[in-house]
Amino acid sequence: MMRNDAFAEVMAMARQTAALEQVAGRLGWDQETTMPRGAAEQRGEEMAAMEGVLHARRTDPRLADLLEAAAAPDAAGARQLRLARAHRRACKVPAALAQEIARVTSLAQGIWAEARAAEDVVGFLPTLAEVIALKRQEGAVLAQGGDPYDALVDDYEPAMTGAEIAAMFGAMRPRLVSLRERVLGSDRRPAALSGSFSADSQLRLARDLATAFGYDWTRGRLDIAVHPFSSGSANDVRITTRIAEADPFNCFYSTIHEVGHAAYEQGIDPDYALTPIGQGVSMGVHESQSRIYENQLGRSRAFTGWLFGQMRERFGEFGIGSADEFFATVNRVQPGFIRTEADEVHYNLHIMMRFDLERALMQGSLEVGDLEAAWNDRFKADFGVTVDRPSNGILQDVHWSVGLFGYFPTYSLGNLYAGCLHQALRADQPGLDDDLARGDLAAATGWLREKVQRHGGLYAPREVIARAIGGAPGEAPLLGYLEAKFAEIYGL
Ligand code: ZN
Repeated sequence: MMRNDAFAEVMAMARQTAALEQVAGRLGWDQETTMPRGAAEQRGEEMAAMEGVLHARRTDPRLADLLEAAAAPDAAGARQLRLARAHRRACKVPAALAQEIARVTSLAQGIWAEARAAEDVVGFLPTLAEVIALKRQEGAVLAQGGDPYDALVDDYEPAMTGAEIAAMFGAMRPRLVSLRERVLGSDRRPAALSGSFSADSQLRLARDLATAFGYDWTRGRLDIAVHPFSSGSANDVRITTRIAEADPFNCFYSTIHEVGHAAYEQGIDPDYALTPIGQGVSMGVHESQSRIYENQLGRSRAFTGWLFGQMRERFGEFGIGSADEFFATVNRVQPGFIRTEADEVHYNLHIMMRFDLERALMQGSLEVGDLEAAWNDRFKADFGVTVDRPSNGILQDVHWSVGLFGYFPTYSLGNLYAGCLHQALRADQPGLDDDLARGDLAAATGWLREKVQRHGGLYAPREVIARAIGGAPGEAPLLGYLEAKFAEIYGL
């Protein structure tokens, strides 16, 4: 066969697989938003059947032959082939192991939820031990003699290693700990939001926020979910949010966060749709988009000034007297046990702890029987408080029960990349704050689309960020941003 014919065939197969992956993803979206409760078991079977079809396509021996024979016509084609070959790495995991992981982790999710509700660590540990044993095996198979944790990280953040992450976190931690101590030692105590905010008005403002941040409603929709997420790619990218009448910030900032993820998928060059480079290149780069939308833009002094006006217009007086006070309230630093509720000062400290623990678990230097003690000791050391119950400690996150080892560090990597992008954006757009103060995000989101989003998977994760900022990404911009912002709010 001609090498170019082989390339065309690879791309045709990849396109169909990508289309089927979108269908499978939409089943997941439906399950979290509109599926009738009685359909749960049947949905499990439907999704398993889709997984079976997808696995067969990914491991099709014909595809292996075609990938061997194919020659790329250009640089983008070379990247397509590189990613298509990487997608085939699932083949290295024996089918029996892959199926056992799928079976155990799907059961483990329910067992974890029950254990968390009952504060029952002992009841959960045997299941977690099973998951860990299976993921260690998977890591070992994928690593082929290398570090099993690195092999697992590679799934979410290609080419990043545990050692690189450890070095990065090592540089961030002392400055974050010091910032945290200075903030908590300050006399200033920004007011918390109080009162009740009608669900209808919250949803209307959430939709307006999504529009302001450039969400394309002709290729998306907003629904309610217990845990907000975004889903899909190209011309069908959906977002979800949640509503609590006492906590409108949760709704607004979850929406902005998910719009960041969705904007990345909606912003990719349409020519790449349903190809290997037609989606976000890594979880870390994805999170950089959601985080810069949510934090560096959405929680900025200029933008919160505009949001304050919007909230006053829609909800009337709500006990916060000025835009200055509102800015401090939005960014209030509050120690707490729960990662997902953490402010910008605390958030990365939570991630660093998860990273050290899960890396030790995968490398075999920490055993599951010692995990709770290790968690609680580390929490006390980093956060200065004693974990009061397992749902506030080891049982709070679903990740490990569903086998997500190597995923946590991408959250902080996303924050680090967001810091880099924000610094470069400000250098390119001196008038950014004037725009934000009018609720106008077009120039900022246009910059991100041009520099990052449109490329999809064309460049490796670090490379797309390096190209956008004109140099190697590092932790300094994020730390500088956090120190300046919280020094201002807390008078440090
Ligand atoms: Zn996210």
